[in-house]
Amino acid sequence: MILDLNFAEVEEYVATLNEPKFRAKQLFEACTLLKNLDEISNLPKAFKEKIKDEYFSYEIVAHLKSKDGTQKIAIKLADGSIVESVLLSYKYGYTVCVSTQVGCRMGCKFCASTLNGLKRNLTPGEILLQILYFNRILGGDLKTRQVTNVVLMGCGEPLDNYENVAKFLRLASAPEGLNISQRNISLSTCGLVPNIYKLADDGFSVTLTISLHAPNDELRKTIMPIANAYKIEEILKGCDYYFDKTGRRICIEYSLIEGVNDKPECIRELASILKGRSCHVNLIPLNSVKEKKLMGVTRKKAYQIAGQLEKMGISATVRRTMGEDIEGACGQLRNKVGGENA
Ligand code: SAH
Repeated sequence: MILDLNFAEVEEYVATLNEPKFRAKQLFEACTLLKNLDEISNLPKAFKEKIKDEYFSYEIVAHLKSKDGTQKIAIKLADGSIVESVLLSYKYGYTVCVSTQVGCRMGCKFCASTLNGLKRNLTPGEILLQILYFNRILGGDLKTRQVTNVVLMGCGEPLDNYENVAKFLRLASAPEGLNISQRNISLSTCGLVPNIYKLADDGFSVTLTISLHAPNDELRKTIMPIANAYKIEEILKGCDYYFDKTGRRICIEYSLIEGVNDKPECIRELASILKGRSCHVNLIPLNSVKEKKLMGVTRKKAYQIAGQLEKMGISATVRRTMGEDIEGACGQLRNKVGGENA
């Protein structure tokens, strides 16, 4: 698929078609604007005929708009798989929350994305497509694209699809492409430790976000199966390594689940393991997922907990919940249309 290719690869591809070099730039620009073949006016018909099998195809099968301005789309990919993506509108611009896999195999007890397991990995171009689509509907040309920030927090575990995600990050940040600064891209992981090291060693500088959700391994194992594979201590060591290599402060995600991880002793323990580390805690009252029994805390309690952490010297904020009415909030995305069941 053409969107999987970077500019140099598009040039090679065009060369194999025995077409002049300047066609590569035209083709790459058309792809970046997500133009359908019939919308590209500067490419000859014969050329379009040659590339039509490599060109992208997708269908938007649902498009929901929340009261708060959040939009969620369900995209049907070439093989019929469906992925969801969310557009969040902030004062500074637009953020797209992308999915990295069709489904997920991590099995976190509170998350809708993992309900039916993993179907398949997304390719770099299929991840990119989600941003391109929102740019397309927001309008703008190559210089004035509206999506400035990206979070890898949709369906899937990005570090469980490392090579494709790595290429996606390069594509999204390429100056000749979307040119989104890696500083404006957040990669969220439940903590696949070896790939945290790999991300640092491969020279990425995205914001690393760790879905911690518990201050000790015993509690973490009850809600996140991945805790059986990697200890919190190993994850935090990986974070220290990432920080040393990149200078980027780590973000710790902590979804507050009523009666599970919100007790004062949990919060004290959280503060003690994070003490002295360059990180920021993002608290979020758990969003409801209808198949799951777990409940979120009230926002008031979340603010109290943030205050408690701040008093212990840990920087913490409560994340705004957006798009909950369209099941577009954290942990509510799935590989089904608009929240339908399997
Ligand atoms: N697999 C990656 C990214 C996807 S989830 C990861 O684990 O980080 C993005 C964030 O939403 C994660 O922090 C995840 O733990 C959190 N999340 C999942 N379900 C949630 C829910 N029901 N309410 C609030 N946050 C949730």
